[in-house]
Amino acid sequence: MKGLLLTLLGLFSSLQLNAQIVRIDPPNWWVGMQNNELQLLIHGDRISSFQVRIEGTDVRLKGVHKADSPNYLFVDLEIGATAPSVFKLYFESDTARFSTSYELKSRSFLASVYSGFNRSDAIYLITPDRFVNATPENDSFDTLREIEVDRSHDYKRHGGDINGIIRALDYIDSLGFTAIWPGPMLINDMNEQSYHGYAITDHYQVDPRFGTLDEYKLLASEMRDRDMKLIMDQINNHCGSMHWWMNDLPFSNWINGQSAFLGNKSITYANHRRTALQDLYASKRDYDEMTNGWFVETMPDLNHRNAFLARYIIQNSIWWIETLGLSGIRQDTQPYNDPDFMSTWAATILKEYPNFSIVGEEWSYNPLRIAYWQQGATNRDGYNSNMNSVFDFPLQGALSASLTESEGWDSGLIKWYEALSNDFIYPDPMSLVLMADNHDMDRLFTQVNEDTQLHAIALALLAVSPRIPQVYYGTEILMQNTAKPHDHGLIRTDFPGGWQEDAINAFTGKGLTEAQIQTQELTRRLFTYRRNSEVLISGNTLHFAPKDATYVLSRFKEDQSVSLFINKGVNESQLVLSDYQELGLIPGLEVRDVINGRTLELSETLSIPSRSFLLLEHKRHEH
Ligand code: CA
Repeated sequence: MKGLLLTLLGLFSSLQLNAQIVRIDPPNWWVGMQNNELQLLIHGDRISSFQVRIEGTDVRLKGVHKADSPNYLFVDLEIGATAPSVFKLYFESDTARFSTSYELKSRSFLASVYSGFNRSDAIYLITPDRFVNATPENDSFDTLREIEVDRSHDYKRHGGDINGIIRALDYIDSLGFTAIWPGPMLINDMNEQSYHGYAITDHYQVDPRFGTLDEYKLLASEMRDRDMKLIMDQINNHCGSMHWWMNDLPFSNWINGQSAFLGNKSITYANHRRTALQDLYASKRDYDEMTNGWFVETMPDLNHRNAFLARYIIQNSIWWIETLGLSGIRQDTQPYNDPDFMSTWAATILKEYPNFSIVGEEWSYNPLRIAYWQQGATNRDGYNSNMNSVFDFPLQGALSASLTESEGWDSGLIKWYEALSNDFIYPDPMSLVLMADNHDMDRLFTQVNEDTQLHAIALALLAVSPRIPQVYYGTEILMQNTAKPHDHGLIRTDFPGGWQEDAINAFTGKGLTEAQIQTQELTRRLFTYRRNSEVLISGNTLHFAPKDATYVLSRFKEDQSVSLFINKGVNESQLVLSDYQELGLIPGLEVRDVINGRTLELSETLSIPSRSFLLLEHKRHEH
C-alpha cells in the first residue's frame, strides 16, 4: 500500500512537473559529430530551481547555467556515446523530482552529402509563398495569427508551399539549375506580412503554411535524387517580434536594445551604414548602431555577444544542416550581425562540414566590401568571415547599367567590362554568386525596360561569366514588376501555373506569349549547357574592351573555348576576327552555335545580329 502510494505520488509529481518543461532546444542531437559538446536550452516554469542529473549513460553533464529568467536552464553535455540512444535528464528540487528523455540519433548522411554548392552550380531562387501551391489544405491555420489568404493582395499569404517546390523539381532541373535557394521556411507566426519568412518566431519549426518537417526532408531527398543541392535561407541577425522567447527573455541582454524594448522606450534602429564595419575612422556610435540597431520594428536584433544566444544560433544552423542534409546556407543581412560571432558561426559549421558552402548577403555595390567578406581575404583588421561566397551586387549593378545605358566612353557595356576587371581583389571570384535580380530588387525584365533582347543578353552574361549564377523564379518567363518599381510584394508575384485555377501555366506553356516561351527556352539552353561545360564551370576568362557597342567575353580550358559575342547596337556588327586573335578563331575553323546547335565555318569576319548575342563553342587555334 505504501509502495503504491509512493508510486502514485511519484507519478503525480512527475506528471505535474514534467509538464513544466515547455521545450528543450535543440529537440534532438546526434552521435558521431566532430564536436561532441552540446548545450541544451531548457525552458519551463521555475526550472532554474531544479538540480539536473544524468545517470547510467555515456553522456556527461559538464555544467548547468542559470539565466536571468528563472524559467531557463542551459545544460552543457559531453556526448561520449557512439551508438544512437535515448537518455534521461533528471530534475530534482527539495519538493519534487521528474525526468525527461532526450534522443541522440545516428547521423543520416555520408559526409559527401554536405559538399556545398560551388562554381559547377546554377541556383534557382524561389519565394515559397509565391511559387506553387500544391497543398491548398495548408494555406491557413486558425491557430496562427495571420489567417487571411488573398492572392490579389501583394503582401498577404498566397498559399505556395514545400510540396509545390517538390512538384516543380523536374521543371527546375530541366531548365539546367542544379541548386535551389528557397526563401526562409521556418515559422513566422506574425500578425501580418508573414509570407516572406524573414521574421522567424521558432527556430525549430517549419511554417505549417509551407508544410511539415517531413515535407522539408522530402524536398531535400528528392533534390538529392536529382543531384540537386538545397540551400537554406538563414537569418542570424534578427528574429520576429512574436518569437516565443520575446515573452520571457532568458537574459537581460538576449536582444540588443532589450531594456528600451521592455521599458517601451524608443528602439534604436540600424543606421544601415555598413561601411562602419571596415572604416578606419568610424565612430563607435556608427559601428554600434550598425551592428546593434534593429533592422525594423518587427525584427528584434539578436545579441550575439551573449554566449548562450550565440551557441543557440550556431547549434540551430547545424541542426538544420544535419536534419535536412543541406548543401549550403544563404545568410541574410550579413553585415548587420556581430562580425566576430559570424566568423565563429561559419568556422564551427566548416569544422563539422569542411566542404560546406555559405553565401552572405552584403548589398553593396563596392567590390572592396564584397571582397572583405570572402574567406581568404587579406583584410587589414585580420578579419576572416569563413564564408566561401558572397553575392556579387557590384557586378549585378554593372550588368543592369551596361545594358540600359547608351554606349559611351564611360557608359554602357564598359560598366560591365570594368566591374569584371575588379576580380583581382577577390580571394575567389568564381565562387561569388551573381544574379540579375532577386526577391528584393526589380525584376530583370523591369530593369531592362521590358526589352526582351536585352533580357536575353543578360541571361547569356549570367551563364557565361566566371561566377555561380543565380536566377530568380519567373525571370525565365519575363516576369516583371513594372507597374510598381521596387515594390517587394509585386516583385514576388505568383508563378503562373502554380495554382490550380491559373489560366496561364508556365510549366506546360499554356497561355504564355511567344516572347515568354522563347525566353524560357533560351534559359533552358544556356543553363543545361553550362551544367555540362567544364569550360564554363572552371575555365579561365578573357575579355576585350567594348568597341562600337560590341563586347566579347571568352572562357577557355586547354584547347576548348566558349565565347560570347554581344552586339548591343541597332545595326548588325561585323567583327574582324584578326582583331581577336587571342581567342584562337581563324578563317576556316568550324565552330558550334550553342543556342541553335548549328555548326558554322568561320570567315574573316563574324556577323552578330543587332541587339543580340552569339555564343560559340570552339577549339582554340594556336597561332
Ligand atoms: Ca498551400
